[in-house]
Amino acid sequence: MHDFHVRRGQLYCEQVPVDRIASAVGTPVYIYSHHTLLDHFHKLQRAFRSLKPRICFSVKANGNLAILKLLVQEGAGLDIVSGGELFRALQAGCPPEQIVFASVGKRPEEIREAIQRGIFCFNVESIPELLAINAEARRLGRTAPVALRINPNVDAHTHRYITTGTAESKFGISIEDAEAFILTRWRDVPAITLLGFHLHIGSQITKAAPFLTAIRRVGLLIRRVRQAGIGVEYLNLGGGLGIVYKDERPQTAEAFAKVVTPVIKQLKVRLILEPGRFIVGNAGILVTRVLYVKGTRSRAFAVVDAGMNDLIRPALYGAYHEVAPLKQNGHGGHRVYDVVGPICESADVLARERRLPELQAGDPLAIFGAGAYGFVMASNYNGRPRAAEVLVKGRRWFLIRRRETPKDLMRQDVIPAALIK
Ligand SMILES: *Cc1c(COP(=O)(O)O)cnc(C)c1O
Repeated sequence: MHDFHVRRGQLYCEQVPVDRIASAVGTPVYIYSHHTLLDHFHKLQRAFRSLKPRICFSVKANGNLAILKLLVQEGAGLDIVSGGELFRALQAGCPPEQIVFASVGKRPEEIREAIQRGIFCFNVESIPELLAINAEARRLGRTAPVALRINPNVDAHTHRYITTGTAESKFGISIEDAEAFILTRWRDVPAITLLGFHLHIGSQITKAAPFLTAIRRVGLLIRRVRQAGIGVEYLNLGGGLGIVYKDERPQTAEAFAKVVTPVIKQLKVRLILEPGRFIVGNAGILVTRVLYVKGTRSRAFAVVDAGMNDLIRPALYGAYHEVAPLKQNGHGGHRVYDVVGPICESADVLARERRLPELQAGDPLAIFGAGAYGFVMASNYNGRPRAAEVLVKGRRWFLIRRRETPKDLMRQDVIPAALIK
């Protein structure tokens, strides 16, 4: 599952003691395992080998250039959601024809850039957006390949902030609207090539059933569209595969593929997958250090040097992340702590009511499952430079992002001369 192990009372990432990295680079620091990252990618590849899908890693889950490059080298494509991520994907050396572009709010200049670069496919989230892409493509004298993102109205049974496939959510086009447009108004978009359909019903989904329901609903649409003489070559299943944070029992890649493969074969479509969390979630930890231990009458707090600006998932989604000391040297007994950051917000709690070995100032802690939606969501709130990132491969480790400095944070500030006395 991942390559973070306790050996002789010490946490290792692959063959490197995590504490050695924390001492060299400082804290907070994100640490990723090269082996875990590639292993998860290969697991998915292997599970779906009979379909040979295009696997486009979701850049928004972790956009570090070194990580993107490693996955691209293994044959991954990339799933992007903005012009900024397009730039990043190209910088990472991803061939444009391996890039798919989702997002409910693509700007005209982002659409133009993507067409000019020759990306594989736009995942289109509304009819007005489809018309806009058509208009940009015509202006450029090009055609734009698209998949319509279908909102299949399926409840993925995940956190309401990360469910995206129900009728109440802002994502995608209803089956009825997509069908009506394709069958009656498709001549309005002569610069569009329809590759197929796209689904992304949510994230951290632990069972195959909602995926299957969604595929069946889109399957009926595919049949009707084909009956009208319009070709459908691709089905993009999106991402959303769940991982273990605490006591979840998510489907394995093998089990997921076993359920999905026959339906995809029946539909005679080529499969695209866009995993994010599944690849990188458990491949990364956030290492932080205890600054102070303080108590009130009812609670013990471990105040640490990482905050919600470094890892916002607990504050944003009420997400659970496992926490453990890097060294089990033990100052004695155990105690229940709230592990809290230094940010001036009551929501800045990384872990609530955790039984941990008694902590002292200076103790380093690992926060697990931080590889996806961790660093990418970091901010500079409270004037905090963003953390460093490190990749471990076997016995070696590499800095893959320098820690920001206070100077970095002011780079874009302007003090207009006219305002100065
Ligand atoms: C976020 C996202 C993904 C990745 O989701 P995971 O749950 O991390 O696998 C894939 N596709 C789209 C369109 C997304 O928005």
